[in-house]
Amino acid sequence: MNEFDTPTFRLAVAQFDRAAEAMRLDQNLRERLKVPQRSLVVSLPVRMDDGRVEVFTGYRVQHDSSRGPSKGGIRYHPDVNLGEVAALAMWMTWKCALADLPYGGAKGGVKVSPKRLSRSELQRLTRRYAAEIFPLIGPEKDVPAPDVGTDPQVMAWIMDTYSQQVGYAVPGVVTGKPLSIGGSLGREEATGRGVVYMILEALRHLKIDVRNTTVAIQGFGNVGSHTALIMQECGARVIAVSDVSGGLYNSAGLNIPELLRRYKTAKEPLKDTKMGDPITNEELLRLDCTVLVPAALSEIITERNAAQLRCRVLAEGANGPTTLEADQILEDKGVFILPDILANSGGVIVSYFEWVQDVQRFFWKAKDVQERLHEIQSSAFHRTLQFATTQKTSMRMAALMSGIDKVAQAHLHRGLYP
Ligand code: NAD
Repeated sequence: MNEFDTPTFRLAVAQFDRAAEAMRLDQNLRERLKVPQRSLVVSLPVRMDDGRVEVFTGYRVQHDSSRGPSKGGIRYHPDVNLGEVAALAMWMTWKCALADLPYGGAKGGVKVSPKRLSRSELQRLTRRYAAEIFPLIGPEKDVPAPDVGTDPQVMAWIMDTYSQQVGYAVPGVVTGKPLSIGGSLGREEATGRGVVYMILEALRHLKIDVRNTTVAIQGFGNVGSHTALIMQECGARVIAVSDVSGGLYNSAGLNIPELLRRYKTAKEPLKDTKMGDPITNEELLRLDCTVLVPAALSEIITERNAAQLRCRVLAEGANGPTTLEADQILEDKGVFILPDILANSGGVIVSYFEWVQDVQRFFWKAKDVQERLHEIQSSAFHRTLQFATTQKTSMRMAALMSGIDKVAQAHLHRGLYP
């Protein structure tokens, strides 16, 4: 029991323990890697539009920096807490190591419902948060990015606040920025594109033609919407999508570009588009489909619903969507799992490209971004699949063990200070 103790943190630690045990990881290292390196809790007084001052709580947790600067998104959500941020930071460490990026893992968050704030309140909150975490972040130290509830504009405000403090423009302090201030082509859709690359590898492995696949996606934000769009471009039928208010189902396949135009541009609620039948988020998970993509929050596939899932492939766009008990049930059912730290690593991989471009002041073509993303992710897929096959373990354990091993090697070579 410690200050991080929450269901999400317990899940991250239980996964780590299982992998550490299987790889017989050094006991001293286990004690260290189970907890973050550094955690900061900040109070953020913000002047609201009506003149009141409201105080929000924010976090930045760095799990590990043995292999380079720490990297990880910032989440704005009412349920954000220290344990959740610490769990997400730990997953980032394994994810970066698995993809061979020279980064450690971090995560940040503010306990807030961003939709309730006006644009100027959101800007003041973001700038105050950036100012409070200023001592921890920087291109060589810790580099934030978007996550649930944050977007390129929020990243731009963080970049500007940081740059104002040091007195010159520092694009490399955050990734997922607008192109005008050093963002990368292909970053916005990178996580979804990467999820699709991983699905296509899994389908090839299972000898399933993508044109014969149906896809259901929970969460229609950055990750979910780009996954839907690109899967449809690849010839799959996207039969259901959802957001926090519920889902839409159409067995003939939803017209994703048209749905996105009405949902994102015209701001029509999903069900008002009448492009499919309304379903609940829980019903979406139980749909008969080839590929299920959770792309919202964590721990939504549990021992309560895992047995009822009817997908062939589970592609984890979200971080930590599956509990340990559910993992076992799905494994027994023969579901092919693309674990989060592999499936959704496209975001951090293209964030790495963005950071490299910022530091070098030399920008790439979209084609270069896509090709290099594909190369890194498909090589991680094949290494993980081979590891899982030779070690007779699951894709999740194989991915975790590969990531953890690289971090362990770095710790052992660097030694323990002092
Ligand atoms: P987002 O804020 O753009 O979208 C989140 C979506 O989830 C929205 O459609 C929202 O309505 C929906 N949602 C929220 N609560 C829900 C609930 N209780 N039930 C069903 N749907 C709900 O966020 P995002 O950036 O797309 O992130 C989604 C997931 O992907 C998160 O787990 C995040 O950590 C993970 N992820 C994101 C990135 C990235 O680059 N953005 C990278 C890797 C992993």
